[in-house]
Amino acid sequence: MPETVHAEAAREVGGGRVVNRPHCGTPYGYKLHVDSQEPTCAACREARRKQMAAYRSDPSVAALIAWESRTRYAALRMLARRYPAAFLQILDEVRAADPRPAAEAEAA
Ligand SMILES: [Zn+2]
Repeated sequence: MPETVHAEAAREVGGGRVVNRPHCGTPYGYKLHVDSQEPTCAACREARRKQMAAYRSDPSVAALIAWESRTRYAALRMLARRYPAAFLQILDEVRAADPRPAAEAEAA
C-alpha cells in the first residue's frame, strides 16, 4: 500500500524518528503526527487509511468524487482544445517530472 504524500512529507520533516502517542492507532493520532510535522507511525497510517476508505465508500461522497473528477477532466479537455500547444507543453513538463513507470505500463 503506497503511503500518502502527507505521510512521506511528515517522515522527511521528522527525520525518520517516529514518536508514539496515547492516541496512536486512531485518526486523531494521525492528525497529531501531521500537525506536529513528525513521522506518522504504522498504526496511525492504518487508522487513517481505514478512515479514508470508509469516507470514499459512502455513496454520496463517491458521487461527489466522481463529479469532481468528471468536471475536472471536461475542463482539461476544453483547455486542451483552446490552447493545444500550451497544453502539450505543460503535459510534457509534468510527464518529464513524473516519468512513466515502464514495468507497470507493460503489465497492465
Ligand atoms: Zn501514531
